[in-house]
Amino acid sequence: MRKPLLTSLAVVSLLAMAAPVFAQQPTKMKPEDTEIWKPVPRVVTPGATCGAPPSDAIILFDGKNEDAWVSAQDHTPAKWIVSNGIFTVNKAAGNIETKRRFKNYQLHVEWKIPSDITGSSQARGNSGVFLASTGPGDDGYELQVLDNYNNPTYVNGQAGSIYKQSPPLVNANRKPGEWQTYDIVWTAPTFRSDGSLNTPAYVTVFFNGVLVQNHFQLKGQTLYIGKPFYKAYDRAPIKLQAHGDKSEPISYRNIWVRELP
Ligand code: MG
Repeated sequence: MRKPLLTSLAVVSLLAMAAPVFAQQPTKMKPEDTEIWKPVPRVVTPGATCGAPPSDAIILFDGKNEDAWVSAQDHTPAKWIVSNGIFTVNKAAGNIETKRRFKNYQLHVEWKIPSDITGSSQARGNSGVFLASTGPGDDGYELQVLDNYNNPTYVNGQAGSIYKQSPPLVNANRKPGEWQTYDIVWTAPTFRSDGSLNTPAYVTVFFNGVLVQNHFQLKGQTLYIGKPFYKAYDRAPIKLQAHGDKSEPISYRNIWVRELP
């Protein structure tokens, strides 16, 4: 007679974990419901930066191969294009993520918008660094990658933003064709055994050496439509986005991470 009781408890527990996901989403929300357009972050011209990996860094991409990465969709070997020490987004192949899973870390990423970039707003060099990948698509926590050197969009969706949650403090974009850097400190969220949130995620981001996110407390996963919510996970890969817009694909190089307590 004990077995049915345990099964019922398990079902109740699962429902309790799933309930907030649905309860927090008002019906009929549109993408623009969570866009913020003003105030526009002021422009700051970045100085020269360097991002060579320190001695204890885990190298995620050094220009030679993409062995540290797999397809986020099916975990087959990554199929982005490696050439001349960089890799370029393969939009047809979709998002890629690290084989290794992380909790808290310091991350360095370099990326470049093509000098011949076309498009506007979100359809101009869109990619993204998902600080924790919680699913194959755009599930997780996205630090936006986009060309905003001279490209207005909603400010909580521009380069250096935590997508749809926090605009960058300033606009530190370099010109298309120039390499740019993200230096990120990620404090992962923690969860109780029942899946409820224990402590939220925090992120600090330097964009080309300029502070754009200062220990920002995330509201949950970053969503295209709807209000953010947390979904329990323990360790997660880092993911790079192959965005579906038609603009020229961007490139990445010199990606390394240092695990933190
Ligand atoms: Mg993006």
